[in-house]
Amino acid sequence: MVVLLLSCNVLTQEQPRLWSAFQVSKELASKLSRNPQTLPLASTDYGNIVHKTPVAVFEPSSVGDILALISFSNSLPTPFTIAPRGKAHSVHGQAMNNLSGVVLNMTNLHWPEIVVACDGKSPLGCYADAGGGQLWYDVLHATLPHGLTPLSWTDYMYATVGGTLSNAGMGGMSFLFGPQISNVLELDVVTGKGDLVSCSGEKESELFYGVLGGLGQFGVITRARIPLGPAPNRVKWLRLLYNNFTAFSRDQEHLISFSESNDKTTADYVEGMLLLNQPPLDLFFFPPSDHQRITSLVTQNGIIYLLELAKYYDNNSEALIKKEVTDLVKGLSFLPTFVFEKDVSYEEFVNRVYPLEMILRSEGLWEVPHPWLNLWVPRSRISDFNEGVFRDIILKQNITGGGFLVYPTNRNKWDDRMSPVTPDEDVFYVVDFLRTATRFDVVEKFQAQNKEILQFCRKAGIKIREYLTGNKTQQQWVEHFGPKWKLFADRKAQFDPKRILSPGQGIFHQTM
Ligand code: FAD
Repeated sequence: MVVLLLSCNVLTQEQPRLWSAFQVSKELASKLSRNPQTLPLASTDYGNIVHKTPVAVFEPSSVGDILALISFSNSLPTPFTIAPRGKAHSVHGQAMNNLSGVVLNMTNLHWPEIVVACDGKSPLGCYADAGGGQLWYDVLHATLPHGLTPLSWTDYMYATVGGTLSNAGMGGMSFLFGPQISNVLELDVVTGKGDLVSCSGEKESELFYGVLGGLGQFGVITRARIPLGPAPNRVKWLRLLYNNFTAFSRDQEHLISFSESNDKTTADYVEGMLLLNQPPLDLFFFPPSDHQRITSLVTQNGIIYLLELAKYYDNNSEALIKKEVTDLVKGLSFLPTFVFEKDVSYEEFVNRVYPLEMILRSEGLWEVPHPWLNLWVPRSRISDFNEGVFRDIILKQNITGGGFLVYPTNRNKWDDRMSPVTPDEDVFYVVDFLRTATRFDVVEKFQAQNKEILQFCRKAGIKIREYLTGNKTQQQWVEHFGPKWKLFADRKAQFDPKRILSPGQGIFHQTM
């Protein structure tokens, strides 16, 4: 037996930290690392604002090790907390832990090869079984050789399967297929009680729906079965510019109103963003010969709204796709000469953020603070939001850095038994303030602006929901979940009664 020092679990902040010793088996101890290289890595995330150091990082070799760690914590009079960490693309310390516990690294485990199979039973016939710590990029690479693909992607392929399924996994295909959490057939989960459970909509469904969007509170996802559909070869990728928000949002809503994937008039992807008369103006997509006139348009208008859509096709349907795209944009009210099209492979399209990441990394702009604000806004108030936030706060205050996404999605693609709370309307908008801050004083300005946006919504009675949020008091979490709080708290009591998992979310605190 090896003695490891661990701080005694949660005391109120004012009390001094007590230290106690507990004994851990040699087997587990060999996987607990306090290596000076490992600890700092586990003490930060993509947000790069919150920094917490755990007592150790646990590097499992198998799902059995995860089970042993959680069971061991449960066996102690004072259990220690465990924070599963995917790629830590969170922005508020959600995958971190403090000296009360350990970080569980989900990415170094040698996961079994992703299985792609067709059983004819799952709704689309085929599925992929992926490990919770594997990347969506790995899932794509395992499925494409079979001519298959998951249906719903986020914008970014380098997050883990368990990480996005613990949130929601939103993207431009969500209007058609729902978020990634609506696209799961089965899960294997190690609960906070230390049980390994296979669950689905039919079996252990309370755990299944709880874990989907459950912010890591109920169990560690170790396997997810993802339904697959036929993978297209190529994509027509369009960007249309608007100087009028009403026309922009009307056209976006029109495009997502066709919500059957086999409908030829449907876009396969719909998103949108703001181009602001503030540096940096991201013109990466556009041909260099158009940069000048787009810049002038943005300067003249202050804000330009960019509608982004995509239509998939196969090499053998090249003749048809031209007509389909023409039909799709017919009747839309974009600025007539400001329509831009690219033809790319399917992989290039779904992995489109990667080249941008490479540029930002090379300029030292990737590992900087990211004071993001991610909101879901009810459709009925999106134009008030445009006036009060985009025009009156963002444009006027001129604090620059980052990008702003805005696109609608359909709520009927969500199952209300899952954990997230959405606005209570059939259509709601995803609004992401993806801020990049190069100096600390800019972080504070962005944070103040985020607060102002939330205050504006409160005062104006816009019932937004925050996504990927953190740094909340317990009371704020109760308000966040609203009518779903009781269900969420009951599930915690059922699956993680000692409040061991994902303490970085700050939802539940251990009591002595
Ligand atoms: P982490 O940050 O490591 O973990 C997130 C939470 O889940 C933590 O609480 C952690 O404890 C818990 N957790 C991690 N793994 C597991 C597991 N296996 N089982 C149970 N709990 C677990 N999100 C979108 O919805 N749409 C987007 O388009 C999108 N684009 C993004 C682009 C970039 C560049 C970045 C940095 C993030 C983006 N995100 C987007 C957010 C991203 O989906 C979430 O931050 C997601 O959590 C990242 O996965 P991760 O593996 O890094 O999770």
